[in-house]
Amino acid sequence: MAWSRLGDVTAEQFRGVAAISREFGAEVRITNRQNFILRGLSEDQLIELYPRLLAIGMAEPGAELSRDVVACPGADTCNLAVTQSRGLASAIGEALEAAGLAEVEGVRTNISGCTNSCGQHHIADIGFFGAERRAHGRSAPGYQMLLGGYVGQEQIEFAKTALRVPAKAAPEATVRVVRRFSEERELGEQFQQWLERSGGAKGVAVWLKDLDVFPTPEENEDFYVDFGETGPYEKELGESECAV
Ligand code: SF4
Repeated sequence: MAWSRLGDVTAEQFRGVAAISREFGAEVRITNRQNFILRGLSEDQLIELYPRLLAIGMAEPGAELSRDVVACPGADTCNLAVTQSRGLASAIGEALEAAGLAEVEGVRTNISGCTNSCGQHHIADIGFFGAERRAHGRSAPGYQMLLGGYVGQEQIEFAKTALRVPAKAAPEATVRVVRRFSEERELGEQFQQWLERSGGAKGVAVWLKDLDVFPTPEENEDFYVDFGETGPYEKELGESECAV
């Protein structure tokens, strides 16, 4: 599997993947985690494949690890977005790297910039959707955090609401959950099994409650500015351009 950070793929990378597909006789599929699967390869081909992926910047381990955060386009390009979901995805990836937790297996984070769930937050282990918050008389970017969603072999479980957090506290909330999961999980235990024996989404929410605090704008203006923005947060909705 070849990882593409935030699902961003350049024309050069697409050409590189197409050339690999032709030359190695591999079938290429795009996954719902915004990565590429190369199918039909033999083990012998992997030694040659690695430098080819390295040359186009797609050899870093990431697919299906905790750094593999998925986000919808959010306020970068979507008229319905309440928040900068891609900016949060980037910040979560960086926070996990800094905490040494970017390569934890078995935990998937998905983010949507509004309730519509193009980022599939409702079927993620850790999900977020953007929501406007009000604090100290100001608008601020925030997120509803959800936990425990998954698509199983025979059933789908929608994630349960945990708590709302300021956008700028969402990376810390994710780091705490990933750290606790990686420290407490038993051999072969899935995220939802760990969550269940840890008090479920509401139980974990109690433990994260101290993060749902807005400092005053004088104390920390950053809480009133969304990721990737330079000015104060303002909710601006336009006409939908997609199927939503
Ligand atoms: S409509 Fe879809 S793409 Fe746009 S912000 Fe909402 S979830 Fe994201």
